[in-house]
Amino acid sequence: MKLSIQNVSKTYENGVKALKNVNLEIGNGMFGLLGPNGAGKSTLMRTIAGLQDADNGSISFGEIDVAKNKQALREILGYLPQEFGVYPKVSCYDLLDHMAVMKGIVDTKSRKKIVNSLLHQTNLWDAKDQKLGTFSGGMKQRFGIAQALLGDPKLIIVDEPTAGLDPMERNRFHNLLSEIGENVIVILSTHIVDDVSDLCNDMAIILNGEVKVIGQPIQLIEKMDGKVWKGLVEKSELAHLEESGNVISSRLYLGKVQVRVFSESALENGFEPASSEIEDLYFSTIHGLKIGESN
Ligand code: ADP
Repeated sequence: MKLSIQNVSKTYENGVKALKNVNLEIGNGMFGLLGPNGAGKSTLMRTIAGLQDADNGSISFGEIDVAKNKQALREILGYLPQEFGVYPKVSCYDLLDHMAVMKGIVDTKSRKKIVNSLLHQTNLWDAKDQKLGTFSGGMKQRFGIAQALLGDPKLIIVDEPTAGLDPMERNRFHNLLSEIGENVIVILSTHIVDDVSDLCNDMAIILNGEVKVIGQPIQLIEKMDGKVWKGLVEKSELAHLEESGNVISSRLYLGKVQVRVFSESALENGFEPASSEIEDLYFSTIHGLKIGESN
């Protein structure tokens, strides 16, 4: 099934234009929506989930028109919101069981089977009797995925799932997401480039409410090939380089500055070709460089 987002715009009451004419077609697999804080990701996720209405445009999932048939959407939706609160005094098992009832899984026997299987899948079986208030950030996120997977959803939305997780927890979370079936759509909204490059077969970059880049990470990287250069420069040289308007990113390294620059032609003065990465595309997009568009 396909999720189709057409001409979706949203302006909040305070005048913030959070979404400006967003168009996206999303098919099965893992889709990464990448953008800095405030880009409009959560607004889009909440709109897709039917939790808030757009001012204009339409969103459909297969035959379901999201704005007109929220109940039908809810039945096939798994949603892990950015702020996922848990009841700290309730045990992991009891809350998941309760949420399964809420999702309409009323038959005790089959519910037990489903809940047990999800606890194994998310590696929370050994912690099932622990109170949720004792869970680490990573465990809470895995619990969040367990509840999002209840009821065999066809569309799964996870909003900023790895923010605040340590590298090991993030890795575990990535593995869990990558195991979700191929016949569902998983939308991963994040400001962390590696979440997208590690996991997603399709992606978009959103900035100030506008979708700036859409494509498959592999193809987007290929498009940049030969156009990214790296060099180590003195701090004093950086300002001059930045005047060219082609600096993709810079970071301090061994007391100097490691710079990545966009250029169609070879650069001299110690610059060498760099293998392009999604991070280059992301920073270029943020800085308004047309790296992904030129060919
Ligand atoms: P992201 O998820 O990418 O961080 P959001 O969708 O949360 O972005 O926010 C997009 C923009 O809309 C931001 O400028 C944010 O301050 C604003 N915004 C989000 N929610 C509201 C709201 N309920 N009322 C007013 N402005 C909002």
